[in-house]
Amino acid sequence: MIDDSSNDGNKQQKSIIYYYVIIMIVVMLLNALLFPSVSQNRVTEVGYSEFLTMVDDGKVTEAAMDQQNNQIVFVTDDGNGNTAYYKTGIFPDDSLIDRLRENNVKFGSEIPKQNSLLTNIILTWVVPILIFIVIGQLLSRFMLKKMGGGLGPAMTFGKANAKIYAETETGVTFDDVAGEEESKDALTEIVDFLHNPDKYSAIGAKLPKGALLVGPPGTGKTLLAKAVAGEAHVPFFSISGSEFVEMFVGMGAAKVRDLFKQANEKAPCIVFIDEIDTIGKKRDNGGIGGNDEREQTLNQLLTEMDGFDGRKGVVILAATNRPESLDPALLRPGRFDRRIPVELPDLNGREAILKVHAKNVKMDIDVDYSAIARATSGASGAELANIVNEAALRAVRMGRNFVKQEDLEESVETVIAGYQRKNAVLSPHEKKVVAYHEIGHALVAAKQSASAPVTKITIIPRTSGALGYTMQVDDGQRYLMTKEEAENKIATLTGGRSAEELIFGSVTTGASNDIEQATKLARAMITRYGMSKEFDMVALETVTNQYLGGDASLACSADTSAMIDREVVEVVKKAHEKAIGILKENMDKLHELADYLLEKETITGEEFMEILNK
Ligand code: ADP
Ligand code: MG
Ligand code: ZN
Repeated sequence: MIDDSSNDGNKQQKSIIYYYVIIMIVVMLLNALLFPSVSQNRVTEVGYSEFLTMVDDGKVTEAAMDQQNNQIVFVTDDGNGNTAYYKTGIFPDDSLIDRLRENNVKFGSEIPKQNSLLTNIILTWVVPILIFIVIGQLLSRFMLKKMGGGLGPAMTFGKANAKIYAETETGVTFDDVAGEEESKDALTEIVDFLHNPDKYSAIGAKLPKGALLVGPPGTGKTLLAKAVAGEAHVPFFSISGSEFVEMFVGMGAAKVRDLFKQANEKAPCIVFIDEIDTIGKKRDNGGIGGNDEREQTLNQLLTEMDGFDGRKGVVILAATNRPESLDPALLRPGRFDRRIPVELPDLNGREAILKVHAKNVKMDIDVDYSAIARATSGASGAELANIVNEAALRAVRMGRNFVKQEDLEESVETVIAGYQRKNAVLSPHEKKVVAYHEIGHALVAAKQSASAPVTKITIIPRTSGALGYTMQVDDGQRYLMTKEEAENKIATLTGGRSAEELIFGSVTTGASNDIEQATKLARAMITRYGMSKEFDMVALETVTNQYLGGDASLACSADTSAMIDREVVEVVKKAHEKAIGILKENMDKLHELADYLLEKETITGEEFMEILNK
């Protein structure tokens, strides 16, 4: 990390001046309040009789005859170490010597020295100022560190602490990003532009100033931005949106200004604003008062993006997983007008990502990556990287020095369902319920056409709270789901509860997750996929944040909403009845498989099919 502090010297000097003025005032006040005698530093003239009283009181410590000026100079001590200087005129008095001796006063003709003017200045001015400077340095350094900046020079209040990563430090290339071929294609043009901007300016073409990477968390947006910088061999300025949001109003805007100033000096280069939604939210939804700081920062960003010369070779990349919340002004032409989707990887993408991360790990030669990729549908790049790492950790725990297929399989489950809970003690009855529940799912799935084959059933509890689960893995990448498949899926989800009802005549709380998923799917069928007769192809719900959980908001009247609810119940009920029917028909298999699972705790898809087809 290079911390560039060559610029904004003016601002720095200004703040130093303010700082010194404040120090002077504080020191003056302290001097006046705490050390009046020292600061006054003068010789008080008193009458002779007063002098004698002070001698008698034992206050005088030293006295001397100043023949030249015809006076006595003496020093008093108030007992607390505070000395004061006095003088008095000479009065013919023979008893003075005895008196002085009696009171232990040192006397002679040498005039007691006051602290020299120089030491006084040092004591009262230089030392306190030095102390303040040291404190100031420590404080500002501490504050900079807290703001996420590096060890910058002292007193850089208001300086942007944008981290500058040199290209050698990103060290990331497109090869490190697997799967996201479309995104890489879109970014290749930007890389080319940074390599030879002349080629583009010669023909008069302007490249977009900014590109927005949008996609769910962990799909490699940050990684891609770094890869662009790495491929183009240009400096990479990266800052997270949250770093702009500061304690003080106006600081965020100052940071934006500084960031672009630095970028302009280092052009060609890449400026990357991660999590831009923190500052780029729509401005109109702030309610009363709004958020001044954020708005100022955003306005500054818009101004800067308009202001700088696109031909210089500064490309601004930004990433977000909430594109719908961004202010439209950010997305208009000339700003982030290019949107590059970075989606969750498909089957091939997942396999490629697993292989990229497996490169740094010692792997068994016959590891089947495509099997793992098939079992991890919906996983993001970050989760896949995590799976490889968990597998490596497991291999170490097992005392091996390379990773086997089973490590990967186990870590897939760990990432999906949490760690095995070895110490969870289920009563024999509970275990039996779980076994029937899981076999219920598996049987309903197996007896329906067009549902993904069962690959594993287990009743070992997991830290996520799952007491058991049935894993179904598709053979290939699925892009579409038919209405029948959706209905089958709901039936499979109700299969667990159905088995409990049939065998034990009562139900448990264990089906909450199934219920949630079944409801969600049934609802989506009606409100978003147009799969009900009643509503035909009318969109009743819109997804509000497609990359973060896909919350949907209703866009229909209350009456319609009530009708939707009834339809959802109907769909689920129908599926539930279907599941019960399937299980009733295969009662003997249900018992046989459940007994087998109870005994083994974990069975594979093959074992399951073998017993089923016997
Ligand atoms: P995002 O910014 O989209 O939330 P990141 O770029 O921070 O995600 O990804 C986090 C980590 O996940 C990366 O450091 C990398 O190890 C891994 N990763 C994510 N996507 C990919 C990918 N397409 N190829 C390889 N690794 C990936
Ligand atoms: Mg990121
Ligand atoms: Zn279940």
